Amino acid sequence: MTSFLDPRLAEALHPFWPDLAEVGSHVGGVMIAGTGARVSVDDPVTGKLLLAYPDAGAPVAAKAVAAAQAGQAEWAKLTAAARGRVMQAIARAVLASAEALAKLESLSAGKPIRDTRVEVAKVAEMFEYYAGWADKFHGEVIPVPSSHLNYTRREPMGVVLQITPWNAPIFTAGWQIAPAIAMGNAVILKPSELTPLTSLALALLAEQAGLPKGVINVLAGFGHSTGQAALAEHAVKKVVFVGSVPTGRLIAEAAAKRLLPCVLELGGKSANIVFEDADLERAAIGAQSAIFSGAGQSCVAGSRLLVQRSIYDHFVDLVAKGAAKIRVGDPALAETEVGPINNRKQYSHVLALVREGAEEGAVIATGETGELAEGGYFVRPTVLKGVTNAMGIARREVFGPVVVAIPFETEAEAIAIANDSDFGLAGAVWTRDVGRAHRVAAAVKSGTFWINSYKTINVASPFGGFNHSGHGRSSGVEALYEYTQVKSVWVETAAEPAVGFGYAPGVRE
Ligand code: NAD
Repeated sequence: MTSFLDPRLAEALHPFWPDLAEVGSHVGGVMIAGTGARVSVDDPVTGKLLLAYPDAGAPVAAKAVAAAQAGQAEWAKLTAAARGRVMQAIARAVLASAEALAKLESLSAGKPIRDTRVEVAKVAEMFEYYAGWADKFHGEVIPVPSSHLNYTRREPMGVVLQITPWNAPIFTAGWQIAPAIAMGNAVILKPSELTPLTSLALALLAEQAGLPKGVINVLAGFGHSTGQAALAEHAVKKVVFVGSVPTGRLIAEAAAKRLLPCVLELGGKSANIVFEDADLERAAIGAQSAIFSGAGQSCVAGSRLLVQRSIYDHFVDLVAKGAAKIRVGDPALAETEVGPINNRKQYSHVLALVREGAEEGAVIATGETGELAEGGYFVRPTVLKGVTNAMGIARREVFGPVVVAIPFETEAEAIAIANDSDFGLAGAVWTRDVGRAHRVAAAVKSGTFWINSYKTINVASPFGGFNHSGHGRSSGVEALYEYTQVKSVWVETAAEPAVGFGYAPGVRE
């Protein structure tokens, strides 16, 4: 029997936990009740309470660390090929529960069902991709100039802590868990306190597919309490943080005190640059999807639209007209393109920034004026024009469906504006001039860049930030370097080795 306030939530949880009485943390294969203050989660469609549960707290974080240590020891004993086979089984389990996961994600995170279906499919793809790497990422033999055989080993870090945000919960969980476990690590995942449910379901499915208990542990709770408690645990050997710059700074400070390596995947204010020679119809659709998909709650959102002056009025008008037609509404409906903002705090933040932008002189071409409404946290796609890159609205991350259109005259000016930002996560250029496309791609300082496209990402391609958008890389083979540490092993092979005092002798021919 479930005791959830919202019957739709009880129904969405049922395929995973038919008898769940209260949401807790998934530790060592069991659901453990939290010990801290209550976490309240609103339904962003109505603004009413959807879920409440107790914060995990330090005692549960300590149990998760112990479970992860035991799970890691068991997991690392398997051959790499055997780990890969379990990960293939996890991918199949995700696909078998795809619709249930997509519905749970849509309801609990307020994301359109059309988006969550795609994101769940991508999670399966992530486990498949890293299953393939499990027995193919290994050390090498180095031709050292002495009688030694020197080889390297790629060893797991051990227990890895992952802290993730609310904008794409299951996608982010799969993104970080798959490479970590492929390399023989165990994971403690601390999802946003606002969106723990699909991460908990993923851990459950992975164990049903054959993953030893304790390899994936999910802590449901706050960052300042549960997240920091996990970070303070000595058995944690790496932290991967996905979230905002201010929190990233706190994580980096705590990690530095412990000399703990960290990967930071932070925010962005990405420049989407449109030249006068571009296919403007396509570029306009690209610009809308770059900022409005996911209600702008995307780290790579194309939130600064840089448009060549000669086409500025025409192009901004195209984007604004398209924006006004986007279907905003109930995430459960298949036709909905943009759902609500995830939570009240973020909703207020987005509208406050629109108001500030208007006060600075930005002109609202379409969308919101900054007035808060009663009920759900819906924000209409908003285009602000007459913006300069010096304005606050062009410099701060909104993390909502709000784009600023900034004019430029020349290629050099476009690049200078694009790079005049604290961030460096992504960017794009739209042009028919091949040379210009590659020049701009090389000159813009960002971890991802698109030419005549936006937001295509794949688990096989590295992802991460420049500047305040973070450091370290996720996805692709790059993630495997983050989730392993290299050991160099020296083997003497000479019949009569020359053992000297100090460094062993090398040979210089
Ligand atoms: P946030 O920084 O507020 O929270 C992220 C996570 O950190 C949550 O799990 C939260 O509980 C935890 N946390 C908060 N305070 C903490 C503390 N003191 N110690 C330890 N953990 C703590 O971010 P958010 O509002 O959830 O997400 C939005 C942000 O995430 C945006 O800035 C967005 O750009 C960024 N983001 C980045 C990427 C990327 O890959 N670069 C992807 C998605 C989102």
